[in-house]
Amino acid sequence: MNVHDSRAIEEILINSGYRKAESQDDADILLVNSCTIREKPWHKAISETGRFRKIKGIKDNILVGLVGCVAQQEGDNIFNLLNGIDFVVSPDNYNSLPEIIKKSYVSKTGIALVGFGDGSDDDFLGLKSIYPSESSALVTIMKGCNEHCRYCIVPSVRGPERNRSIESIEKEVRNLTEQGIKEVTLLGQKVNAYKHEGMIFSDLLIRLDKIEKLERLRFTSPHPRHMTKDVTDLYGQLRTLCGAIHLPAQSGSNNTLKSMGRRYTREEYLDIVERLRKKIPDISISTDLIVGYPGETEEDFKETLSLIKEAGFSSAFSFKFSPRPGTPAFKLDNDVSEDEKSERLSRVHEIISKQEFEFRQSLKGKNLQVLVDGKGRLDSQLSGRGENFQIVNFQHSKSLEEMFGKIVTVEITEVNSNSLLGVAVEK
Ligand code: SAH
Ligand code: SF4
Repeated sequence: MNVHDSRAIEEILINSGYRKAESQDDADILLVNSCTIREKPWHKAISETGRFRKIKGIKDNILVGLVGCVAQQEGDNIFNLLNGIDFVVSPDNYNSLPEIIKKSYVSKTGIALVGFGDGSDDDFLGLKSIYPSESSALVTIMKGCNEHCRYCIVPSVRGPERNRSIESIEKEVRNLTEQGIKEVTLLGQKVNAYKHEGMIFSDLLIRLDKIEKLERLRFTSPHPRHMTKDVTDLYGQLRTLCGAIHLPAQSGSNNTLKSMGRRYTREEYLDIVERLRKKIPDISISTDLIVGYPGETEEDFKETLSLIKEAGFSSAFSFKFSPRPGTPAFKLDNDVSEDEKSERLSRVHEIISKQEFEFRQSLKGKNLQVLVDGKGRLDSQLSGRGENFQIVNFQHSKSLEEMFGKIVTVEITEVNSNSLLGVAVEK
């Protein structure tokens, strides 16, 4: 989401006459796009902003601004935490950045602009133009979240759920594909809970699939509670829907899921996995997991380990529970010790790396459809992502200029630590 927002900020500023700096040293305006999902990124945002403030101390006329979720969370309190910050602007207010920057040049005090937008189509920061180096784009279809999982700060920093109209989404996707975008990832905190004027998520997918120049459609992050049959049935049916899905599970224990407020059970989660595998047997399923949630016993944790195996995740982002201010879980007894959390996290990593390796090994000898987006490690190689999101390097006689944005069938010959190696299959 922040990758998308940073890109949108770039467009907003470029359209009002600014230029992207070559490096931090070359910049007159320094922005930190922050995340507060856990305590660690909050600290990182504060320390990066502090570092930028020091650059400001040595150069004249530099502006330092904080944007993103920490901006929304702290508002003008940020001026008490750190001095020398010129402005804080929250995610729903990026269209006002040029105006805030202008004001900051003359203002003696810091300026804060936070709060949520009305959810109108213009509020969604759609991209209008792309760079020649882009073949994929992120498109926001819904913002905010009403789910209130007990550990999560998102509803308070990204606001209530608001859905964009299907026409506005389609218009952006069409415009991007006309300019050369081949792959679109739809964004939303509960992306598959999308609904607008009687249309639901599966209607949107079916509609976007009809856009001829669109080759691939992905989305992140779906909530298991909304992974209904009408959505899973589209796998293997829609031309553009990729054989990879990121489906956050958070835990494999029904006790923990219940106390997290996730509103699905382990069995329901596994039922979705089964439905997906029926449609695409070798689908790549990745997930998010939290370890050490208050009250999580060794038994509960073991349920998470067994879910990883049973669901056959090909990769996972896993986190230690981090208490966030203002969330219901913040008040709970954070009873799993830091050492225990670290230990559980490393046990998760161990199984996930093994499964990741096995998944990648299983691709050896298979053909992947690779969307070319760059050069490989060697000059004679091209690189891109397979439909299952794996990075593939492969030998090709044509140049990147000729091949950029094309989909090439590649037979996988070797599995490396971070990428796959293959040869293009000539048709
Ligand atoms: N909307 C998405 C998740 C958004 S947050 C969903 O519901 O799946 C991204 C991930 O951060 C979550 O999936 C969760 O694994 C992690 N996360 C969120 N709050 C956290 C917390 N308080 N402590 C640790 N991890 C957290
Ligand atoms: Fe947070 Fe996702 Fe739960 Fe919403 S659905 S509260 S964003 S974890």
